[in-house]
Amino acid sequence: MNTTLLHAEGLRKEYKLPRGQTLRALDNISLEIMPGEVLGLVGESGCGKSTLGRCLLRLTELSSGTITFDGCDISSLNERAMRPLRRQMQMVFQDSYASLNPRRRIGDLIAEPLRVHPDNNGKKRSSSTIEARLAELTELVGLSTSALSRYPHEFSGGQRQRINIARALALSPQLIVADEPVSALDVSIQAQIINLFTDLKERLGLTYIFIAHDLAVVRQISTRVAVMYLGAIVEQGETDAILHTPAHPYTAALIAAVPEPVIRKNASRTLLRGDVPSPVSPPSGCRFHTRCPKAQADCAIVVPDLRPLPDGRVVACHFPLVNDP
Ligand code: SF4
Repeated sequence: MNTTLLHAEGLRKEYKLPRGQTLRALDNISLEIMPGEVLGLVGESGCGKSTLGRCLLRLTELSSGTITFDGCDISSLNERAMRPLRRQMQMVFQDSYASLNPRRRIGDLIAEPLRVHPDNNGKKRSSSTIEARLAELTELVGLSTSALSRYPHEFSGGQRQRINIARALALSPQLIVADEPVSALDVSIQAQIINLFTDLKERLGLTYIFIAHDLAVVRQISTRVAVMYLGAIVEQGETDAILHTPAHPYTAALIAAVPEPVIRKNASRTLLRGDVPSPVSPPSGCRFHTRCPKAQADCAIVVPDLRPLPDGRVVACHFPLVNDP
């Protein structure tokens, strides 16, 4: 029986700004991920996706809320207590070049986690063990071992992302948070890297949180999707259900904006109007009401709870577009 790998409850992240203002980057986020799942996190730029990814791995401190990983409450562990868990939870970033020290050889960069963290018996790894692991990792990500003696600038963006993935895999993690890992790549290279993520998931039994603003990318890899708007999840459920019959007007508008006809064949022609409001002073009631084509008077007053629909998804809307019980 599957047990939850990661469970997050009531996550909030606030930043205090000068002049006493508060920026609420995450507002009451709850989600869970089962082993082997791929959860796509989607939303416009600035909606809190990356902050959520970093908070889930405790790379950014939470303001409040709890995170349980593999049965352990990690929400308030100090860095020393987190260290053994770090090997289980890794991140792949969008900017493949910035993630790699340009002055170090690829072999050193991929081997770094193997040198920093002891093995499962608490012992330092030998040079031969590290070399053997480097050979495995390069094979896994589709690179030649000759890459290990070269420098980051000698590789294309797609190859550098393979190097970052190899580095993330070095300690055999259970969970990888991939933060827009293909958005800086050409479309043909994007497909290769997504295929690599899919292949690695099958071979290694990995679990992913896959952050993207591009629904076409999320459709290819995610089993479930969480749609974020202004720091909150507004809809969450199975990928096919959400992309083919969105229940939240914001999800519908995101889908309508996708150029790929496979995704938007059932979408309304609703397009998003206006800019995302400031998270420093979000709109009252439903935070989407200033841009929502379906908004009614109550929407500006009453905050919609995330509530379940019969098909198992949850949606934060007083007037969902489908499956209203
Ligand atoms: Fe639109 Fe109202 Fe639903 Fe918010 S609660 S998404 S404003 S219909």
